Amino acid sequence: MSVAARPLPALESTYATELADLVTPWKAAGASDPTLLVLNEELAAELGADPEALASPEGVAVLAGNRVPEGATPVAQAYAGHQFGGFSPRLGDGRALLLGEVLDVHGQRRDLHLKGSGRTPYARGGDGKAAVGPMLREFVVGEAMHALGIPTTRALAVVATGEAVVRETLLPGAVLTRVAASHLRVGTFEWAAAHGDRAQVQRLADYAIARHHPAAAAADEPYLAFLEAVIEAQAELVARWMLVGFVHGVMNTDNMTISGETIDYGPCAFLDAFDPVTAFSSIDHAGRYAWGNQPAIAQWNLSRLAGALLPLLGPTQDAAVTAAQQLLEAFPARHQRAWEAGMRAKLGLAEAAPGDTELFAELLTLMHEHEVDLTSTFRALSDGVRGDLTAARLAFGPGLEAFDAWAARWLARVGEDRAEVAVAMDRVNPVYIPRNHLVEEALASATAGDLAPFGALLEVLRHPFEERPGLEAYAVPAPAGDGPYRTFCGT
Ligand code: AMP
Ligand code: MG
Repeated sequence: MSVAARPLPALESTYATELADLVTPWKAAGASDPTLLVLNEELAAELGADPEALASPEGVAVLAGNRVPEGATPVAQAYAGHQFGGFSPRLGDGRALLLGEVLDVHGQRRDLHLKGSGRTPYARGGDGKAAVGPMLREFVVGEAMHALGIPTTRALAVVATGEAVVRETLLPGAVLTRVAASHLRVGTFEWAAAHGDRAQVQRLADYAIARHHPAAAAADEPYLAFLEAVIEAQAELVARWMLVGFVHGVMNTDNMTISGETIDYGPCAFLDAFDPVTAFSSIDHAGRYAWGNQPAIAQWNLSRLAGALLPLLGPTQDAAVTAAQQLLEAFPARHQRAWEAGMRAKLGLAEAAPGDTELFAELLTLMHEHEVDLTSTFRALSDGVRGDLTAARLAFGPGLEAFDAWAARWLARVGEDRAEVAVAMDRVNPVYIPRNHLVEEALASATAGDLAPFGALLEVLRHPFEERPGLEAYAVPAPAGDGPYRTFCGT
């Protein structure tokens, strides 16, 4: 007799078991009429899951929270967080559950997590629900980031619940299944430090070291080495965001991972015209989380992590503070190193040279002054390397003379093997990013029941570096006159 394939491989629960005092076992509310909206078949295969079984009624029941997968113990995770600078000691999974962990086909442990699965003891005033639009945004932007080579959590599926969610209007409800290296956040450590004792912080740190930064375990000072590893991962991550014009939008400490993956695509967006003070979130009035502020905010968040780890960082409080301070002060230099390495790749420069910092800064200043579209202009520079600067020059309009002077200096730095350099540039300068207006259009259509624009956009964004005929509309910014783009907190 043949046995029907299970939708998911066996789930483990190391987190729930080893850190039982940081979770609350809980059940999903369940959906009355679940429908699969989108399934990530590639990711399913990577997890060792069976896409066909996931799309079957039994699989959809798991993805909707109607059925607990075999052997799983779903839990809500506790965490705290600094939100817009203020401390909230009790956040936690208010509308989400950790189903468990799978070992993927590469042997990596990955969390499976439901978002929008109903109220939990951490829900405070919230309804525990999520709407189709924001969950599809998380799906598509996560896939775009992954295709751009940026570490990120990813969505396995979005299921419509068949129920309405009350927001400014009534919206169709959804549950997203998120896959992450883990859901450990800076805020998880803040929770342990605020509510637990030194032993709890240490157990959490040991778990995080084993799972994400195992080299730290062998260091003379494992917890300092761990802090340093998280600082490095975030310095690199934020540089990668900025190189593609990504603005996270809500870089609270509960939305910053220990693994170095991007998490929580709420009010995020991509720059069109380059402007470092661009902030997208309608609730971020002060521009705290603007494009150019992201390194400073990451450093600030990491100092909250250091604060939570302090009892582990030295024999005395003073020694711990001094050691942590040293690591935190090195953040800007680490970030700058990652940023400049990325800029060199974008500009086809093989090696660092004196004056690079100024060369890069001057290009961005010109882009800002002349409101140049970041993505298409960087892409056009590879044609410049091939001998045709027309498209790039066109972008600068009245700034042409200054651009020509800059380009002459830049091209003098580019090596002889121009054809090869141009190809390498095309591998790091995307043609297609999730243009805000296209994402909005796709989500609005999906909310109204038509998934075709969402599917088309997803397909384009899965191959961001490959210019394809017929996709010109996906490669250009919103038509002028659309006004500044605003996103709303994706709840
Ligand atoms: P976020 O802004 O999505 O990162 O969430 C911040 C906090 O609010 C987390 O503790 C979430 O679990 C909680 N939260 C967000 N939306 C809801 C909701 N609709 N119901 C319950 N809790 C929520
Ligand atoms: Mg969050």
